[in-house]
Amino acid sequence: MLIIVMEKSQCKYCNFIILSSYYFCPNCGKKLHEPPLSISIGKQIGIYLLSFFLPPLGLMPAFRYIKQSDPKSKTVGIIALLLTIISVVISIQLINSLMGISLGQNSSTSIQELRNLGY
Ligand SMILES: [Zn+2]
Repeated sequence: MLIIVMEKSQCKYCNFIILSSYYFCPNCGKKLHEPPLSISIGKQIGIYLLSFFLPPLGLMPAFRYIKQSDPKSKTVGIIALLLTIISVVISIQLINSLMGISLGQNSSTSIQELRNLGY
């Protein structure tokens, strides 16, 4: 059985009786409150993946969520921000280690390896 709670309230601009779930007043058309950002599991996973694999793009939703008054949305934003930072740190370390490998591999060791193989 589905119970829909209909909370009544008033528009702060024209005192028109509205439902508190309305984002816009049907009488005067003024914005009553910001529609909350979705924090469904699918949306969260999307944001986390974006933050981790495409770090600069993940910052946009991360800050948008952190600015929300709802603590759950804030948490989503903070996790996204942390994932962005972790991802950036991992990328830097990965680039550093790749550079280290290519710099450490000088020509003399390569020739030595070829000789060992019988060339
Ligand atoms: Zn109104």
